[in-house]
Amino acid sequence: MAWDFQTEPEFEEKLEWMRGFVRDEIIPLETLADVWRTPQGRETFAKVTAPLKEEVKKRGLWAAHLPPDMGGLGFGQVKLGLMHEILGQCVYAPSIFGNNAPDSGNAELIAVGGTAQQRTTWMQPLLEGKLRSCFSMTEPSAGADPTLLKTTAVRDGDEWVINGHKWFSSNASISDFLIVMARTGDADTSAYKAFSMIIVPTRTPGVNIVRDVPTMGEPDHKTGEPGGHAEIIYDNVRVPFDNIVGGQDGIGQGFALAQKRLGPGRIHHAMRWLGQSQRAFDMLCERALTRYTHGSILADKQMIQDWVAESYAEMQAARLLTLQAAWKMDQLHAAGKHYSDARVEIGVIKFWGAKVLYNVIDRAIQIHGSLGYTTDLPLEAMYRAARAARIYDGPDEVHKVTVARQILKNYRASDPSREHVPTRREAAVEKFADYLDAVSVAH
Ligand SMILES: Cc1cc2nc3c(=O)[nH]c(=O)nc-3n(C[C@H](O)[C@H](O)[C@H](O)COP(=O)(O)OP(=O)(O)OC[C@H]3O[C@@H](n4cnc5c(N)ncnc54)[C@H](O)[C@@H]3O)c2cc1C
Repeated sequence: MAWDFQTEPEFEEKLEWMRGFVRDEIIPLETLADVWRTPQGRETFAKVTAPLKEEVKKRGLWAAHLPPDMGGLGFGQVKLGLMHEILGQCVYAPSIFGNNAPDSGNAELIAVGGTAQQRTTWMQPLLEGKLRSCFSMTEPSAGADPTLLKTTAVRDGDEWVINGHKWFSSNASISDFLIVMARTGDADTSAYKAFSMIIVPTRTPGVNIVRDVPTMGEPDHKTGEPGGHAEIIYDNVRVPFDNIVGGQDGIGQGFALAQKRLGPGRIHHAMRWLGQSQRAFDMLCERALTRYTHGSILADKQMIQDWVAESYAEMQAARLLTLQAAWKMDQLHAAGKHYSDARVEIGVIKFWGAKVLYNVIDRAIQIHGSLGYTTDLPLEAMYRAARAARIYDGPDEVHKVTVARQILKNYRASDPSREHVPTRREAAVEKFADYLDAVSVAH
């Protein structure tokens, strides 16, 4: 199937409008971040952004992440990738376009795994931006290996009773509901069938949000501000039986659903990283052409030219890998298959994209010297945020394991090597024996 790297002119027009809109209307909000975080500032932020969201809706660009059969606009992953490349430049842009994490991934999860009732009650309001959600899986004692999660959900009549301790539940403290991964199987159930996802309204008695954990990204974050990562104790939390994602059929489907949710979520992150990398790269190039030192501008020095060339090549590779993964996901969707068949492509861009993001921002800081280290430029904040990209949605190492395992399935052990020259030569002598009679062949 051909993929010609072209975007339809009508969609390119939309992208061009988005570039201007993000640059002129959204990026200027950034320098007032401290104002928007206060309770009063949040109200003002909502007032400032409401007309921007209306404009996005009017242009038919709101909540573009789901296919039409799941209640979205049906842009597909490639177009979404091109959109996110623009939105990723600014942390506020995805929510103004109605496809910010974790809400976009949670809407997709309910779309693919939820019951009709759950789609009406939870997914639709999420898509309309009327509710906010959280995905609550990681625990202080288990993350990269979710088979070790300890939170339990025990059935009691027509209710689930949930007990456990989670952390890094992003946006929990400002959410309306949480999707909690809990063990529903007993000790004999295989680990991959032992977990389920359960929807818990955040204000249910027993949901104790201990704190938003201050992080390297936001060391002075206060509990209850947007963008926090909450530590939560679930203490005998009771919700109706029907809150299990997928209903009766959803029992034991937690891991299968997690794969469905995390695939698109991971590629959307990678797409946004392209926008962040480009912004850092623009600063790098601008500085190279501006700063004069040791007899020339920095752009004339070969070591700096190396950074420009390396950064460009790495970014271009990340962009093409990301768009190729997006294209494969679109092909799978069209064929009625699930995105998990693109796990190699998604795994590659998850670790490669995070590395490129980190490298480019690092070089951009370096070329700015002391200025790059200050808060007078956004680079230090971008750098702190970028560090987390190598950890969330699965650390680099786990994605590399997945990729390597899948790739190695295409190979088998061979001793001697299939390329062993003496063995191949022996075979060649046999194959061409009739012709070789006339020449003498050394053994
Ligand atoms: C900013 C941020 C936001 C997050 N948001 C959410 C959220 O909304 N919801 C949620 O549930 N979780 C969230 N997380 C948690 C995240 O998904 C976990 O941190 C991640 O899965 C790793 O789990 P862990 O931190 O427990 O690390 P561990 O499981 O303790 O792993 C620690 C390290 O061990 C190494 N390692 C692990 N496994 C292997 C292996 N097989 N081979 C080699 N090395 C390995 C890796 O270097 C890894 O970084 C978030 C994390 C961050 C940083």
